[in-house]
Amino acid sequence: MTATKTTPMMQQYLAIKAEHQDCLLFYRMGDFYELFFDDAIEASKALGITLTQRGSHDGEGIPMAGVPYHSAEPYLSKLITSGYRVAICEQTEDPAEAKKRGAKSVVAREVKRIVTPGTITEGDLLPDRSHAYLAALTMLGGTASLAWADVSTGDFQVDECEGDPQAIGQLLGRIAPAELLVSEKLFADARQASWRDAYLDVIQPQPNSRFDSKNAAQRLMDFYAVGTLDALGSFSRAQVAAAGVLLDYLDLTQKGVLPRLKPLAAVENQAFMAIDPATRRNLEIFARNDGVRKGSLISVLDQSVTSAGGRLLAQRLSAPLTQVGEINQRLDSADTFLDDPQLAQEAIEVLRTQPDVERALSRLAMDRGGPRDLAAVRDAMGVAQSLAQILDQRLSLRMLPLELEEARKDLELPGDLHSRLAELLVERPGMLAREGGFIERGAHEELDQLVQLRSDAKGAIAALQSEYAAATSVSALKVKHNGVLGYFLEVTSQHADKLLADPEQFIHRQTMANAMRFSTTRLGELERDIASAADRALAIELHLFAQLREGVLAELDALYALAEGLAKIDVAQASASFAARNQACRPKFREDASAPMLAVQGGRHPVVDAAVKAEGSGTFVANDLTLSPMDTLWLLSGPNMSGKSTFLRQNALLILMAQAGLYVTADSMELTPVDRLFSRVGASDDLARGRSTFMVEMVETAAILNQATAQSFVILDEIGRGTATFDGLSIAWACVEHLVQKVRCRGLFATHYHELNQLAEQLTALSTHRVKVQDWQGDIVFLHKVVPGSADRSYGVQVAKLAGLPGPVIRRAEAVLKKLESQGGGADLPLFEMGALAAAGNAPEVEPEPQATDALREALTALDVDSISAKQALDKLYELKDLAEE
Ligand code: ADP
Repeated sequence: MTATKTTPMMQQYLAIKAEHQDCLLFYRMGDFYELFFDDAIEASKALGITLTQRGSHDGEGIPMAGVPYHSAEPYLSKLITSGYRVAICEQTEDPAEAKKRGAKSVVAREVKRIVTPGTITEGDLLPDRSHAYLAALTMLGGTASLAWADVSTGDFQVDECEGDPQAIGQLLGRIAPAELLVSEKLFADARQASWRDAYLDVIQPQPNSRFDSKNAAQRLMDFYAVGTLDALGSFSRAQVAAAGVLLDYLDLTQKGVLPRLKPLAAVENQAFMAIDPATRRNLEIFARNDGVRKGSLISVLDQSVTSAGGRLLAQRLSAPLTQVGEINQRLDSADTFLDDPQLAQEAIEVLRTQPDVERALSRLAMDRGGPRDLAAVRDAMGVAQSLAQILDQRLSLRMLPLELEEARKDLELPGDLHSRLAELLVERPGMLAREGGFIERGAHEELDQLVQLRSDAKGAIAALQSEYAAATSVSALKVKHNGVLGYFLEVTSQHADKLLADPEQFIHRQTMANAMRFSTTRLGELERDIASAADRALAIELHLFAQLREGVLAELDALYALAEGLAKIDVAQASASFAARNQACRPKFREDASAPMLAVQGGRHPVVDAAVKAEGSGTFVANDLTLSPMDTLWLLSGPNMSGKSTFLRQNALLILMAQAGLYVTADSMELTPVDRLFSRVGASDDLARGRSTFMVEMVETAAILNQATAQSFVILDEIGRGTATFDGLSIAWACVEHLVQKVRCRGLFATHYHELNQLAEQLTALSTHRVKVQDWQGDIVFLHKVVPGSADRSYGVQVAKLAGLPGPVIRRAEAVLKKLESQGGGADLPLFEMGALAAAGNAPEVEPEPQATDALREALTALDVDSISAKQALDKLYELKDLAEE
């Protein structure tokens, strides 16, 4: 094609593309989805596929790239995860139809669906063990509402919170949407920057007009086919608006083929522990800071054997509860399996065979499902049946705990669907109904006859070949088949005469170089039989498929409940299994909110403990923690690398696990439920988000001081580190005072400011603790044991030595220390040590920066001059360190 004019097909393409500017357009041509122009260039980069040229447009070659239609999923998946949206444009008529309209007419095409991160249902495109939520956020009269749905499982919920950015950030953090719809107005609101920036990658701003609560109400009523909103439950206007926006968007992207969603459910706000996004990141719940799952809390906790179980566990971890009753129900479920290892083993074996039925159900509901999805429903029902039997057998004498009893009820199979599926479907059917072959032989009489007819006809054709060979005495005569002639006889040219002699019977069709081809009436008849048998067989299979699908849809609610029941049982066994393997204990709760307490005996960090075990590198040192209204905050000191952060995080994680209803890695744990959990690490680098580290630290600290309540738990790690020493110290000082005197929350505060220890003398609810280290012939040995009292020195020089500071520098530092000691400058010693440490880059695992070493040397020289005090030297050190960092 070298036309300089735009072809009719290109005109069609451009018209469709104009309506989908924000998407890559997958334009169906035969067996490929083609991409053109910039779409082709971007896709070829993102997917590593070949970029070609086709024809021309405005005199230039058109860049083009293609993806095979039959294996488009992995490509789609990659594009979606790289942040693209993809509009899928299909041919909506047979090319033959188009031809009838005229030789040049273009096949009609239409965008059938827009694939976005929050609207996918295909197994290959979805993360196995997490939900891909589509969410919509609305703001009405100071209240923010969030609606979220997982179209692949049918979950649909709303929740609301106060309209301030922190509360919104917390709500979003709990849901972690894959795609978030907000109005353009809200998107542009600078006050909302904190969460907006954190979720920038997943936000889809929508026109303000879509956020009208009246339209939304109508949408909801239409979707659930009810006449009044009251029929759905009671929802605020903002909630209705959010749910409506979400449905609107589904309609828009799915082109009217809406998923089946469970009844909209409003979440009771108070029931969850509030955890803001920074805390979630810091605690590395679902991924480490570098985004890797391995080494996260979930990676060691998750002993579930089904994807749905994995998703439910993740959901529980991301939204720990505050109501003791519900938490205990979960723990009771785990106990059932812990008390009976054989039951656990049997349940695991059955569950292992379970397919991802929630997703199969939603594909069937959206008419994207195939025979394999029906088989998944069948198999899940089989699993449910076996599991119910196992539970009934082993627990007939005992009452099941409440949660398991409910799950057990959900396992009841609805109607005769299971037997119908089992009877009709083959063991492992294919993905696509139109390919047939998924109905079991013997299940449908007419279908069997047709299949028989087809194989008979094939046998008859073989018999005919022998008959013709004998009649014509051409033993090499063959019956062959191709798409043009259908079945035909073929003989070599030298034998052709024998057939040409009987033109009544052998109709000449084609002369090849060495062979000649003939058809006969009888072959033609058999061919028709085969073709019509195949057509009729497929029609019957499709009919049966439609019937079975209807059967599934009629029981959809019961089937979703069954899937949920299976997931709950899997989580209970997973929790028991983790507990058994990790010597975990059941946390006990106290409900007296007037005296918030926390007592951990022999607590271990679940991830570090697992890592230490896996490496076989010694044992994890267990530590205790006791907080009560008399002693709300522990000030923790100790040199770098002694285990301060580990201790802080470990206790936050234990609380998170306990309130998620899981066993905890400790000998014993008792607590009053925590309403909000906060974790901050001083001066963490957040440059990617364009704020200076110190600014981030202060913004985050401010959030804690403003939001924490007496029921909260706070861990603060080296707050105040990001600025000059005395600023930092004063800020840390003021924070501690505020937390102990005003907020009175439970918490841990790790610091290297030894001066803070003086505060413990004034504040009775503050106590000092330190991580023990042993001085061993000038080196330090980390004992990782938390004991009462404050560290008298920070061992900065020793740590600097471990960090690899040059020997002469270390020796000089030691000499200077001695000298200062003899001059009675004791009070300044820890500060000086910190200076040495700061100069070493403050990170023992990294090679010290050459500039830092220079800085240290310079500062040490400065120290030797009598007129410069240690404090001044230290400030000089920090200054130099900042310079070195810049
Ligand atoms: P700090 O915050 O004092 O600099 P970390 O908490 O980062 O120290 O601990 C440093 C390292 O020491 C950790 O990576 C871990 O491997 C090890 N560690 C910490 N606490 C313990 C413990 N209780 N038992 C065994 N090893 C520990």
